[in-house]
Amino acid sequence: MEIGFWGVRGSIPAPGPATVRYGGNTSCVSLRPSGGGLIVLDCGTGARNLGNMLMEGPFGKGGGEASILLSHAHWDHIQGFPFFVPLYQPGNKFHIFGGAKSSAMLEGILEGQMAPQYFPVQTLKNMGASIDISAIAEGTPFEVERCQVRARTNPHGRAGALAFRIEDGGRSVVYASDAGYPPGGPPATSIELYRGADVLIHDSTYTPEDRERYRARGFSSVGDAVAAAVAAEVKRLVLFHYDQDYSDAEVDALLARGRRLLDDRGGKSIELVAAVEGSTLKL
Ligand SMILES: [Zn+2]
Repeated sequence: MEIGFWGVRGSIPAPGPATVRYGGNTSCVSLRPSGGGLIVLDCGTGARNLGNMLMEGPFGKGGGEASILLSHAHWDHIQGFPFFVPLYQPGNKFHIFGGAKSSAMLEGILEGQMAPQYFPVQTLKNMGASIDISAIAEGTPFEVERCQVRARTNPHGRAGALAFRIEDGGRSVVYASDAGYPPGGPPATSIELYRGADVLIHDSTYTPEDRERYRARGFSSVGDAVAAAVAAEVKRLVLFHYDQDYSDAEVDALLARGRRLLDDRGGKSIELVAAVEGSTLKL
């Protein structure tokens, strides 16, 4: 399985000289399962570059098929959707899964950001590609691109955000963006989902100090990410979804802080990296 990072920033795009190394686009991660196919995790502004790259292959000729898993519909996780060019190519097929009370409700949410008041080009229905939309039944495994997927809602804002565990043969990747755990730390249901994963991509929006300052925003600190990784005994922790106001130097410091916290809290054997826009990770 190959993991591609297209957007690693939280809340709002943050381009500029202070963020060139880690990148300024918002959440979008691609997974290429070992058996072929493509899974896209969230459609933040990073999805634009992923889409442009895909158009150089079968998607550019209307022969592409992919599944999109949406953790939740906050702007920074869906804003790249209308700019994901393969969706406009007739012949391409997309299967969209997300958290909502019904598939119609999820469709309404995505359609909403493409209403003429917000977006000039097209409605969701007329984009060109074939698109089907399914609400996820939490906790029940489902198959996507020949991988087993399970989802759990993490506390985040008023509606929560889904975390996904994707199993590809014997390999597992967990995507847990936007997780605002209670003061006691990650709930048992979250740890159960993350348990023993080869890779845990985890919300690391803040330093522990900023997390306290902005607790109401519902994000994790690097300390929360470390606590989750240690409790779940994952093999590799990937920091993700950095605060929009953090410079590259501040993300460097976040990574160094994460390493110290892991070493201090029983996670010496856990590999730690900070997600970089444009980078890939092979499993
Ligand atoms: Zn969010």
